Amino acid sequence: MNLEPLIETTRAYSCISCAKCTGRCPLARASYELDRDGGYSPRAVVSKALQGEIDDHSGMIWDCLTCNACALKCPSDVDFPGFVRQARSKIRKERANGQVRLCTGGSQLSEIANLMAERDLQQKRMDWVGDLQVAVEGETLYFVGCLPYFDLVFPDVVHTQTIAQSMVKIMNAAGIAPVVLANEVCCGHDKLWTGEEDVFKALARKNAAMIQERGVKRIVTSCPECYRTLKLDYPEFVDFNVEVVHSSQFLSELISDGTIRFKDEPETERTVSYQDPCRLGKHMRVFQEPRDVINSIPGLRLEEMTETKAESACCGTSAFSGCDKVREKIRLDRLSQAKSTLVTACPKCQIHFKCTQHTNQTISPEVQGIEVKDLANLVAEAMEAHV
Ligand code: SF4
Ligand code: SF4
Ligand code: SF4
Repeated sequence: MNLEPLIETTRAYSCISCAKCTGRCPLARASYELDRDGGYSPRAVVSKALQGEIDDHSGMIWDCLTCNACALKCPSDVDFPGFVRQARSKIRKERANGQVRLCTGGSQLSEIANLMAERDLQQKRMDWVGDLQVAVEGETLYFVGCLPYFDLVFPDVVHTQTIAQSMVKIMNAAGIAPVVLANEVCCGHDKLWTGEEDVFKALARKNAAMIQERGVKRIVTSCPECYRTLKLDYPEFVDFNVEVVHSSQFLSELISDGTIRFKDEPETERTVSYQDPCRLGKHMRVFQEPRDVINSIPGLRLEEMTETKAESACCGTSAFSGCDKVREKIRLDRLSQAKSTLVTACPKCQIHFKCTQHTNQTISPEVQGIEVKDLANLVAEAMEAHV
């Protein structure tokens, strides 16, 4: 397989084999701890690529979580996740499937995204709106993402539609009735990162057209993967130029300018931890705003986990792929660092953590009992009834 163009665009040629990437990689650490002879190593992958030793069956290309921890440490500015993404795309263009292994729920979501890309589906995805105020046209759009579908695919694990309800409740309290698209399609993030570039582009073109024809000036997303995809990847792949912010940035803005306020008396006092989602933190460098939001909620005290911000480990899975004991270990290590509530700003982090709590019968009662909760739900619960 000719990887020369990727080696050039991702600066892999400048690797000095220092192994700082491997030292930071959560997959390397967890796989080494479980099997000392078989640890994952991004340094070794780069080295093999430079020597022309990576073929299109290489599991090494499919194992990476694309979390970006390695790239933030690399002294030669090698974009390893970018290399992996492009290699996956090249493999899938030249051969059928590569070695992508989706879990059952991930496969169902992947099929739904295929249908959205191929057909003009009339979806039934607005049931969660209820009495909340939303609009058909306007300046601010709330990009719901796959939240309605997550609840169908993981009914015993999550209720992520409550995140959308909290966000629109907060927006309404701030005097905004956001545009919500009745036929919004998947942002395409997972398709892009598992090598299905053509499906990604079909999805991106549909969303871009729907959003731009509504006169939207600003998009708010709940999912960090939607955030990165709409903000960075859409302008690269399709005709799209709209401001995009993540819900944590939007909430931080509303709190700091006094638009939303909290009840004076907190219902509970508790110490919480915060999980930096990879796409929000290590990809887009949004570290402070979610912390500012947590610290502004009366009764909450944020205590950082051992590894935070650029040093934090991910939730152990990306694009619902490759889920196994190594990735479960990453999640369990993360949960065992957390206080009784682990705040996330990513619905997918929540799914993966809760899925492990739901399915692993051997974890301790302490880890089992950690409440995993989205930032927007916390804000909506703590808000004054009338603003
Ligand atoms: S950190 Fe960068 S330079 Fe060092 S081995 Fe990894 S890719 Fe190469
Ligand atoms: S992107 Fe994350 S999982 Fe992949 S090699 Fe880098 S640190 Fe490891
Ligand atoms: S943890 Fe995530 S990737 Fe693994 S089975 Fe559960 S939902 Fe799928």
